[in-house]
Amino acid sequence: MPAALDRRSFVKGGAASVAAMALGTTALASLAGCGPKQEKAPDAEKPAPQVEAYDIVIVGAGGAGLAAALAAKQGGVAKVLLLEKGIGSGGNTNFSSSGMNASETRFQVKDKIEDTNELFAEDTFKGGHELGERTLVDFMCSNSSAAIDWLDEAGITLDNITQMGGASVKRCHRPTDGSAIGKTLIPGLRDAVEREGVETLVETPATELVVDANGAVTGVKAQTKDGAETTFEAKAVIIAAGGFGSNKEMLRKYRPEVADFVTTNIPYTTGDGMIMAQKAGAELVLMEQVQTHPTVEQTTGALIAEGIRGGGAILINSEGKRFFNEMETRDAVSEAELEQPGKYAYVVYDQQVYESNLDAVSYDERGLSVKAPTLAELASKIKVDTAALEEAVATYNAVTTDGATDPFGRTKGLIAFGSGPFYACKIAPGIHYCMGGIRIDEQSRALDAKGKPIAGLYAAGESTGGLHGSNRLGGNGVCDTMVFGPNAAEQAALYIAKSA
Ligand SMILES: Cc1cc2nc3c(=O)[nH]c(=O)nc-3n(C[C@H](O)[C@H](O)[C@H](O)COP(=O)(O)OP(=O)(O)OC[C@H]3O[C@@H](n4cnc5c(N)ncnc54)[C@H](O)[C@@H]3O)c2cc1C
Repeated sequence: MPAALDRRSFVKGGAASVAAMALGTTALASLAGCGPKQEKAPDAEKPAPQVEAYDIVIVGAGGAGLAAALAAKQGGVAKVLLLEKGIGSGGNTNFSSSGMNASETRFQVKDKIEDTNELFAEDTFKGGHELGERTLVDFMCSNSSAAIDWLDEAGITLDNITQMGGASVKRCHRPTDGSAIGKTLIPGLRDAVEREGVETLVETPATELVVDANGAVTGVKAQTKDGAETTFEAKAVIIAAGGFGSNKEMLRKYRPEVADFVTTNIPYTTGDGMIMAQKAGAELVLMEQVQTHPTVEQTTGALIAEGIRGGGAILINSEGKRFFNEMETRDAVSEAELEQPGKYAYVVYDQQVYESNLDAVSYDERGLSVKAPTLAELASKIKVDTAALEEAVATYNAVTTDGATDPFGRTKGLIAFGSGPFYACKIAPGIHYCMGGIRIDEQSRALDAKGKPIAGLYAAGESTGGLHGSNRLGGNGVCDTMVFGPNAAEQAALYIAKSA
């Protein structure tokens, strides 16, 4: 995917060009010549309802869905179908900007980073204010290293490790060149599922789960591109339809105080999977837990990656002053920003940060950052007090070089500012991630309110709730999808084998 593809062009760009970037070759061929979505045929001409049969149908072809599809095929499942509502696969995961957390990986060992699965689990649990489902937390962390190896075998190498907020050590794994993970992960997974013969239907929103008289899920109804209502029979269904960060109605219902914030999410993340699963008997948990990300550009909803702060950037307010530990968890940093004059801040960094985070180049190209050769000129361009900005950088540099105690308690990602040019991105909090969703167990089974699994129904990724408690740590979203996506597929395959 070309670096120039950003969330905005995905949302607003022409279907054909975006599809060309977001789809693999097979799916692309099927899109040839397709422009904006055609008006639906009048009812009289509506194609007759269809029925097709699969082993596993996966709702949503984002990170979790693609990973589940690949694992299902690798596990010997014959007929796997990915249903995707959008014009291309990849979902929000396309735009994952930093990386994937994992512990005890061989890449950490190579970089002499000491980490354990227990420490990762502790950070995750604490980061979620101890509201997370501990068994899910432990499961994710202890399987994270295997997920990194699994991706590596699929040609997706994540060996460049950075620091994220709330993490005791560096464990956020990125592509070798330090670029945004989504741009490597999604094309890599998309190619792998194509090679394995997974069928993908884009512009085919799932609308309803089919439930039999015993309460078991046996299929999915969807609206195919030609307007036909098709029932896809399935021996098992995996919901991987992402969160509801673009559904104002659900946001108003569950977390009204942030409903009018800008969102970093693509427009397709409207909670459909959660709604469908709930109708089939699944319990939804922690729905009020909607994460705001503290560094969102407000006119575009573009995310300024947390890896920028992890790589040494600071936050300053409209007076040019630092005001908080930049490496604190997202909820805490968002709250601190909203207490600043004007309720916004700037992410400020130097050329070293720029060069070690390829995303920073795209901020420059997209006009999201302001650049100046000196701090004084930067201050003048963004209209903050020059002396205050210089003082903020000098105090921060003293912490990194003299070992002075940081007045805001920052101990991670401390890298001194070098010489210019310097950069600033104006940001404020935006809706970013839904910690709530379908209740699952370690076998990725969807559970009802009594904790009983719903036969034939599995869920993975942002559609699920409980793992991240009340705050997801940066880097844990992708880890969640790469551990629980394949896990859902393996468990669904076992269920199919047992039911045969
Ligand atoms: C801008 C941005 C940057 C991020 N950066 C990071 C990062 O660096 N590290 C990290 O760990 N996490 C990051 N995250 C979070 C991470 O991207 C998510 O945790 C992850 O993408 C969730 O994957 P998913 O597969 O569950 O959902 P998605 O990738 O969103 O996929 C869900 C898919 O389901 C489809 N869908 C929805 N409804 C239907 C329906 N009815 N029928 C069929 N299909 C449907 C959607 O179109 C979408 O393609 C970031 C998120 C955003 C928005």
